Amino acid sequence: MTISAKHLRHFERRLRRLRAALVHRSMQHDREAYEISQSREDQRDDLAACASLEAFALGIVGRDLHALNEIDDALDRIETGEYGMCLLCGHDINRSRLEALAHAQHCISCANWLADQPRTNDRAG
Ligand SMILES: [Zn+2]
Repeated sequence: MTISAKHLRHFERRLRRLRAALVHRSMQHDREAYEISQSREDQRDDLAACASLEAFALGIVGRDLHALNEIDDALDRIETGEYGMCLLCGHDINRSRLEALAHAQHCISCANWLADQPRTNDRAG
């Protein structure tokens, strides 16, 4: 572990800000999905369009929830002193990679390897 306490605090603040923004955005999308499902009752002619809009809004919530889980995991790893270590190979994750993706779980070579594997297209970091 080569991340200093100062940098850990920096990443922890960043993760908490990111988390707050995601929660806020998820709540907005939940409301949008709710409003779309309500308006569906009034506009039965436009059912198909409403259904796809609803799926769109819920899809964004699903991705945000996934990111939220990864952020919570990263905050846990700060607590346990494992933050910044690749979950796959155990090597340090490059600092600039963490700056770009504070909740990154894998070093760049493992992330690239995972991206090349079939059926792992939801592994973003
Ligand atoms: Zn790795």
